[in-house]
Amino acid sequence: MTINQSGWRPEITPGKTDAPATFTGNRALMLEEPLIFEIGDERTTGVDFADGDVHHDRLGGLTRKAPIGLPGLSEPETVRHYTRLSRQNYAIDLGLFPLGSCTMKHNPRLNEKMARLPGFADIHPLQPVDTVQGALGVINELAMWLIRLTGMHGVAMTPKAGAHGELCGILCIKAALEARGEKRRVILVPESAHGTNPATAAFAGFQVEDIPATAEGRVDLAALTARLGPDVAGVMITNPNTCGLFERDLKAISDAVHAAGGYVYCDGANFNAIVGRVRPGDLGVDAMHINLHKTFSTPHGGGGPGSGPVVLSAALSPFGPLPYTARTADGHVHLVEEDNADAFSAEHYDGAVTPFGRMTAFHGQMGMFTRALTYILSHGADGLKQVAEDAVLNANYVLRSLEDTLDAPFAGSGPCMHEAIFSDAGLAQGFSTIDIAKGLIDEGFHPMTVYFPLVVHGAMLVEPTETESKASLDQFIGALRSVAQRARAGDETLKTAPHFAPRARLDETLAARRPVLVWKEPAAVAEAAE
Ligand SMILES: *Cc1c(COP(=O)(O)O)cnc(C)c1O
Repeated sequence: MTINQSGWRPEITPGKTDAPATFTGNRALMLEEPLIFEIGDERTTGVDFADGDVHHDRLGGLTRKAPIGLPGLSEPETVRHYTRLSRQNYAIDLGLFPLGSCTMKHNPRLNEKMARLPGFADIHPLQPVDTVQGALGVINELAMWLIRLTGMHGVAMTPKAGAHGELCGILCIKAALEARGEKRRVILVPESAHGTNPATAAFAGFQVEDIPATAEGRVDLAALTARLGPDVAGVMITNPNTCGLFERDLKAISDAVHAAGGYVYCDGANFNAIVGRVRPGDLGVDAMHINLHKTFSTPHGGGGPGSGPVVLSAALSPFGPLPYTARTADGHVHLVEEDNADAFSAEHYDGAVTPFGRMTAFHGQMGMFTRALTYILSHGADGLKQVAEDAVLNANYVLRSLEDTLDAPFAGSGPCMHEAIFSDAGLAQGFSTIDIAKGLIDEGFHPMTVYFPLVVHGAMLVEPTETESKASLDQFIGALRSVAQRARAGDETLKTAPHFAPRARLDETLAARRPVLVWKEPAAVAEAAE
């Protein structure tokens, strides 16, 4: 190992072409692993069941006629298969994960310990509320923190992801418009918004209209205000936006939208950049989802479980979904559902609370609530503010360290927020963002977000997060600079990277459009056909 200016880095021996092939295909601890369909067969199993003598046909004749050929392995083979595959994967516990927009940050182990306490982990959503006061108290206390941190009026805790939260917020807007007896059909979405925003608005039955971005990467205020009118239900603005910039005009935008009778939805997935520093409620926001799995460090699962509570303004709070929790002066935490909603509203809110319906079967992602509250309490209000400051500091360090090597289109727009954006301008003829991403794999990093946001050609969006030390940032910056320099110099070996990964460069389009799933025909089916 050598120490140089950009932190530690191992001496990399470039791909040795004279290295002998191994019998197994393994290269020491880099283990080759076939598909489970190639190594398993339907006659092998890790568990022996007794042959059942009674067969209840509860599906009215729809029972399986022949084996379906799922591959089986013994128990140790199964464990090895998945463990070997997992070692070919990249994880936040292995190294810096620079995916912009996704906020892949460290998940403190304390969160996990708390979520596994039997009083939280072993309860059931249908238990009588008197027996789960502690868990309901956690939901309620987290709700209070989210309201305080955002300066909003209420919060819907049940949505299970950011996009689900967007849908919840837009349904609140729809309900509020219906209560006013108005049929506004249009939602304005700036180019700098996240892609889920127009998708959500369209899914909820609105017509989506684009608002252009300015050259400095922010919403064009003049274009937006010019479009406002009696057909506009509201706007959806991502702040900080997907160019990593703070939308400075948000207050002016909110005032104009409200004056025109519309509502302001703020995509708050990037709240981690401003938590403790900015209260969206002060900027006139009516609804904003918070990704607990980004801002408050609960892990991103493979598509879930995330959690996307939506904070709501005084105008929208009455329409938030069931169920919700409320603590009364006697300390009891109520769970308000369909059967007690009207009575609870009449008793405590003068009948003004009229929920639009329900987003989920039960209370939301309890495990994520426990993790997020643990994170909040272990940081405290001052610690959360520092989280945002450090995230912004780290992103600006990356931006300023690399702007001499990579084109940084908004470097002149002032400091970035929690993520730094670069483009493919200035690379050698024939080289593009994908080559830099693949080169980073050889350097042992997960690539950054590429070709997003769409407003920047060949975009590279880097979000280091606040949990990276200067040493790890320097190592990443050194790697990215080295790969970028190779792309600028037209180093042809970069075009075939990665060279050291378990698989080389794949045809991603073909892999997505025409996947080849190796699947052996079950012997029993083949026999039956003969
Ligand atoms: C991640 C993200 C979303 C979507 O959140 P999910 O939890 O993945 O549904 C929406 N907007 C922005 C800006 C995001 O970064």
